[in-house]
Amino acid sequence: MKIAIGGIFTESNQFSLNPITANEFKRGGIFRDSEFYEARVPSIRGCIEGLNEENAEIIPLLYASASPGGKITLETFEVLYSDLMARLRKNMNLDGLILNMHGAAVLEDGSHLDSTMLERIREEFSKIPIFITVDLHAYITENLVKSCDAILAWNTYPHRDMFDIGKKAVKLLSRTIRGEIKPRMVFSGVNVITSAINASTDGAGPFAKLMAEQLNAEADQDDILSTSLFLCQPYLDQPRMMSGSLVIANNHLQKAQKLSYEFAEKYWNKRAEFLSETKSAIQVLNSLQSDEYDHHVLVEASDCCGGGAIGDSVHTIRQLMRLNSDQKSLSIVVDPKAIDQLSDKNIGAIVKLKIGHQSDTKWGNPIEDNFEIIEKSSGQFTYQGGIWGGETGDMGLSYLVKKSENYILINSKPTYEWAGEQYHAMNLDLNNYKYILVKNPMNYRNLKLSGRTKYHRIDESGPTPINVEELPFTKSKEFFPKNLEEKMVIRQYF
Ligand SMILES: [Zn+2]
Repeated sequence: MKIAIGGIFTESNQFSLNPITANEFKRGGIFRDSEFYEARVPSIRGCIEGLNEENAEIIPLLYASASPGGKITLETFEVLYSDLMARLRKNMNLDGLILNMHGAAVLEDGSHLDSTMLERIREEFSKIPIFITVDLHAYITENLVKSCDAILAWNTYPHRDMFDIGKKAVKLLSRTIRGEIKPRMVFSGVNVITSAINASTDGAGPFAKLMAEQLNAEADQDDILSTSLFLCQPYLDQPRMMSGSLVIANNHLQKAQKLSYEFAEKYWNKRAEFLSETKSAIQVLNSLQSDEYDHHVLVEASDCCGGGAIGDSVHTIRQLMRLNSDQKSLSIVVDPKAIDQLSDKNIGAIVKLKIGHQSDTKWGNPIEDNFEIIEKSSGQFTYQGGIWGGETGDMGLSYLVKKSENYILINSKPTYEWAGEQYHAMNLDLNNYKYILVKNPMNYRNLKLSGRTKYHRIDESGPTPINVEELPFTKSKEFFPKNLEEKMVIRQYF
């Protein structure tokens, strides 16, 4: 059994001016041929372990990943795609193909990377089973469903099960090749587009409940091979964006149709639970009257690099500076122009700096003040877990500066936040700070803080808002909660 493995993995935000180029993939990691066996990428490791257990002959193609950003330049995509395809075409006698994708990547011309890529591959390789793994935040299109034999999404958010899903996909692919099973896949979607703030699979939120119930249904029925639940990445501007359920049944289309329909309907019925009350930074800081907490984690989710933002908002930092507390605050911002102002200065120097909103100017205005340089770093770190667990992160040349008790980490490049790695890279102990700014709406749960800690969700102007209905969508306009009166419509792709 000869199975090829590869993928082009990244995520787009169409409201962010932050193009993903070849440099972002170089920074994220590109693996070819035998380099796959050294890759610490959990989804690749999971696939390889599964393939080894099946005694399959592994044909590694190309796997390239980049931190989320805006759209991917066409040249970048075509170079990576050609590289992958050249390796694939050398192996025309393959039995199957597995690709580790994200599912919410968009090309410069507005087309969906994942669908485009799978359509092309399917046209050339129509005879072999093609399986893909995706993020549960993927945008599922009809063409994507028609261009492959099975889609398996991760089941956890925060994302932790990329290894397991990679392995599960390979096992199902092997059984398909041996003729033991015949996967029939159906996606049922509802027009519910919300941010992921209430969509953790931990705890008792609406997404966690739906996920647990759907996985139980999968476990209870022998002929259900896989189920996935999707919250469509809301920062896309694509036609027919839908959240919903995807079910793969063994040789039984109706069963897949029925179960995925059932969960799409349940998703619709829970839609209001995905909405969240939000506060601005000034509202949050003004509300902190008492001092019963050791830490306040300020989650400015509207500027999340993991959702494709540049990460250059200073809305919360501005309010922390206004608060002028005698307790320490620690904040993070990405601003290559501020780094340029610092690069010839020494530790201890006082520098007049302009910080924030200089890359994408439409979301706010920079702060201008004098800051002392405390520390400098080349910006490399190792991810402790998540999608890039074990891999190197690179936030570029970085400086820690301070003004009064406000410490600010300035990075040259956006990076995905998992468990505070950016701060740890500067040898900072988060426990020394009363106020800590993070921007990922979910992964702040991975911060290890001692003492009483309160978490605050902050929605400011930015490309990854908690309340998405004000974003200037042009392709999908009819969805909950934008049109609260909208009737339930379930669309099925198979
Ligand atoms: Zn995700």
